Amino acid sequence: MKTMLNALKDRRLELGAAADAAPQGNWRSARDADGVVWLVLDRPDKSVNVIDRAVLEELNAHLERLEAERPRAVVIRSGKSAGFAAGADIRQFTGASIEDMQRLLTEGHAVFDRLERLSSLTIAVIHGHCLGGGLELALACKRRIATADATLGFPEVMLGLHPGLGGTFRSIAVADPVEAMTMMLTGRSLPARKAKSIGLVDAVVEERHVAAAVRAAAAGQLAGAKADLKDRALSLRPARSFAASRMRKTAAEKAPKEHYPAPYALIDLWEAHGGDRKAMQAAEIDSFARLITSDTAQSLIRVFFLREAMKGQKQGKSAIRHVHVVGAGAMGGDIAAWAAKEGFDVTLADVANASIGKAVKAATKMLQATLKDPVKVRDALDRLVPDPQGHGVRHADIVIEAVPEKLELKRSIYAAIEPRLKEGALLATNTSAIPLDELVAGLRDPSRFVGLHFFNPVSRMQLVEIVSHAAIHAETRRRAIAFATELSRLPAAVASAPGFLVNRSLTPYIAEALILADEGIPKERIDHAAEAFGMPMGPIELIDQVGIDVALDVVDGLRPVMHGFPQAPEWLRQKRADGKLGRKSGEGLYRYDSEGKPAKQSLDALPDSAPNDPDIADRLILPMLNAVVACLREGVVEEEDIADGAMIFGTGFAPFRGGPIHYARRRGIAEIVARMEALAERHGERFKPDAGWSDLEAR
Ligand code: NAD
Repeated sequence: MKTMLNALKDRRLELGAAADAAPQGNWRSARDADGVVWLVLDRPDKSVNVIDRAVLEELNAHLERLEAERPRAVVIRSGKSAGFAAGADIRQFTGASIEDMQRLLTEGHAVFDRLERLSSLTIAVIHGHCLGGGLELALACKRRIATADATLGFPEVMLGLHPGLGGTFRSIAVADPVEAMTMMLTGRSLPARKAKSIGLVDAVVEERHVAAAVRAAAAGQLAGAKADLKDRALSLRPARSFAASRMRKTAAEKAPKEHYPAPYALIDLWEAHGGDRKAMQAAEIDSFARLITSDTAQSLIRVFFLREAMKGQKQGKSAIRHVHVVGAGAMGGDIAAWAAKEGFDVTLADVANASIGKAVKAATKMLQATLKDPVKVRDALDRLVPDPQGHGVRHADIVIEAVPEKLELKRSIYAAIEPRLKEGALLATNTSAIPLDELVAGLRDPSRFVGLHFFNPVSRMQLVEIVSHAAIHAETRRRAIAFATELSRLPAAVASAPGFLVNRSLTPYIAEALILADEGIPKERIDHAAEAFGMPMGPIELIDQVGIDVALDVVDGLRPVMHGFPQAPEWLRQKRADGKLGRKSGEGLYRYDSEGKPAKQSLDALPDSAPNDPDIADRLILPMLNAVVACLREGVVEEEDIADGAMIFGTGFAPFRGGPIHYARRRGIAEIVARMEALAERHGERFKPDAGWSDLEAR
């Protein structure tokens, strides 16, 4: 079966092929009255510039001509309003061998080296985003002029890579080396002025002053920013080794080397060759080619495409402007704030005024943290209108209900709201577990009803499950998907089955953790096994995080689809009865300090006699995989890729593993099935492989 992801890649390939054959080319060249040649990158087939082989080959041809013409200055800039360039086209990185990559990179380096050697003064004029390969192109110029709106960065590390077209050695040569390394190690972009302060650009000007700035530069009046004592010290190995060991420590706090090798490879590269540009160039090519062919990078590139595929489900616009939210609790308050942040007009209702007050306070905090700019925060807060009387219902294009998880309460709210809804308005629920077919009973027009299952916290969890039911109209579903993407969230269409996809799959993982704890295995050991697999948080800590009360409701609620799992242990119910609910009450399975951090015992401090099981990781992860497979078989979710994306963006499932199904395929389906059968023999029915595994193997 052709997956959505492959279809997307094919489409891009077709586009790419069409562009290669297109007569107009990717670059335009013109000479101005001052004798300055302007080379404008403007890919005809794309809304943003990306750097690929065709772009580099054409640039090479222009450089050959310019070497003969010897103009006094050459300006490189972009013809796209969005920015200079978004980076290299990562499509060319999938499935290539190390040797292919080395060849491709060596060719690319030769072009940028040629640009660097050009006798004319070369000036990159940078506006908007200038990322990855785009920044490497700018760095091969002798001067860089940025407009005030520019942002510059190396996001490669997020794909399990480091810069590969000369960025590693050129960035440290023009900018403060430690700042340049930090930029490459974190993947964070810098605004123009900050980029200037570290030496990455030589001048920052308003767009209207670009022509004058270029004239001044061409007249030799723009000196390159650079080179102080610290740089010279760091050209010596002992100083670099000292700085490198600090960088390794910081990197280790963020991501372990075995799962995310790129930052460590970059640090090694710099430590070994930071004082020798030629050696660093050769080593960069080698290191990049090795990283790109690693499982980590290939999985992270897959995650990039999964995100695109999920966004690409959008067809047309939602036609939603005004969002009315009923219930200003943990979820409703967050959803309302996020919608206001994304530019929607929002009214927020609740029976309790205190809930609305708390929600607005939390919204202010979230908006300050995400928007940063006080004017934008004020504008977003202006769009978020407290509405205790619910006047907003009559004007809303969508009403989202987020009141407590009680069927009758939700139904009574719909009964009061539906008659007041505008023509064409949608009615949505954020329920986590109540079947939608039960919620629609009593609605006059169930076709406009849909589930929008957001995850907590909305500002961080990108997934929204778009839940259907028997009576939904296709247009409702289409608009809901469009609305989720307009909210900058990633939609996954699911059927209204217990727990939908994500909670259904995550619950066996949590339930198995409780069984392991019941066997006496220390909770730190259980959490560690999951974290070592790559989960963002161990299951025991996760239970505390969602709350023992909520976790018990979910585990109990999903029992009908959790074959062979025993009841949750009695000691957990006792904790709920004692009010030890987890992080929110200061104690649950762990105790929490005033900052909400759990007191965990170090694994080394555990007594030798503490129970253990070498199968902990498989016992946690395989039941989760089994549930995803069951969801695919039952049609709860249709596409493997959407299932993988939903688990990554809804639960944080180890991104470097590319999603549960991708992981299963890489590890080998037959191997996993055999493993589950062995575990079933030892521990019982709950490990029995779902019938869907054989469908998966057949695909
Ligand atoms: P919550 O208890 O934090 O908030 C519910 C809010 O609804 C409260 O402020 C309450 O005052 C208000 N409310 C109660 N009756 C009302 C009425 N008749 N009219 C208007 N407001 C009323 O609950 P929550 O955690 O935000 O959950 C809301 C919904 O979201 C539930 O269906 C839940 O299953 C779902 N959900 C929760 C999470 C989560 O992690 N908390 C995640 C996804 C989905």
